[in-house]
Amino acid sequence: MKLLASACVALACFLGTAHADDVAADGGAGAAADRIDIDSDNFIEGSLYFVVYHELGHAMVSEFQLPVVGREEDAVDGLATKLLTPDDDEPTPDYLMGAIKSWFLFGSLTKVNDIAWWDEHGTENQRAYRIACLLYGSNPAKFKDVADTVKLPEDRRGGCERDSKQNEESWDTLMDDDTYGAEDKVPADAATPEIVYQPTEKFQEQQDYLKKLGLFDDIAKFMHDNYKFKPGIKLIANECGQVNAFWNPGDRTLTVCYEIVQAYQNLAKQIDSTAE
Ligand SMILES: [Zn+2]
Repeated sequence: MKLLASACVALACFLGTAHADDVAADGGAGAAADRIDIDSDNFIEGSLYFVVYHELGHAMVSEFQLPVVGREEDAVDGLATKLLTPDDDEPTPDYLMGAIKSWFLFGSLTKVNDIAWWDEHGTENQRAYRIACLLYGSNPAKFKDVADTVKLPEDRRGGCERDSKQNEESWDTLMDDDTYGAEDKVPADAATPEIVYQPTEKFQEQQDYLKKLGLFDDIAKFMHDNYKFKPGIKLIANECGQVNAFWNPGDRTLTVCYEIVQAYQNLAKQIDSTAE
């Protein structure tokens, strides 16, 4: 794990370094995860979209030299949440519920004594609750059941509306249309990132899954249609030797490890087996 810790200093990683392999007392995270009732497809897809939007946030920070006040990891979790929050005419937040559930499941696997308090990320449970809080706060009437499902305390709920508004307005201010491009209008100098699936023997199933899901195609189009990224960015699926994803500002690559795809698939099998 030391290798991962040092690599994450140079890269903007999705996950921190402390993940116990054995189940332990989890502060209710396992029970919270159990209460989130979504199918395994939405769980895997939502988790992976959240991963990539989070890394896209890191890419925006470095590519556009955005100011960040507070922890960058929290800021880009906020962007991923904003981008995955359903519009008023869209009914269900299945993908975000998938992401919340996966954070609670990761949290349930981490012993309190193994939490890396110094980590640049919040703890898994904090990340789960923050996404739930921002989602609830975006429309408390519509998403009351989200707050109820994760048992968000009443005295926290009032602040979620303020936090959600601040999160949305902050990103909208930073990524204003004039400077970075307008929705539904492709800027003349926008570039579409190149998509690369690195060959793999061990994770062929995960590569096939990613291709079929079309996650990178979606993200590349989203980046092209909305923001003025300079050419040369690559979206890469690769074997990493770790369960993670990262943005590398040096070579301008956003990498999703086949291992993290497999990790979500394995968690989904647990969901399926407990649902039967
Ligand atoms: Zn990150």
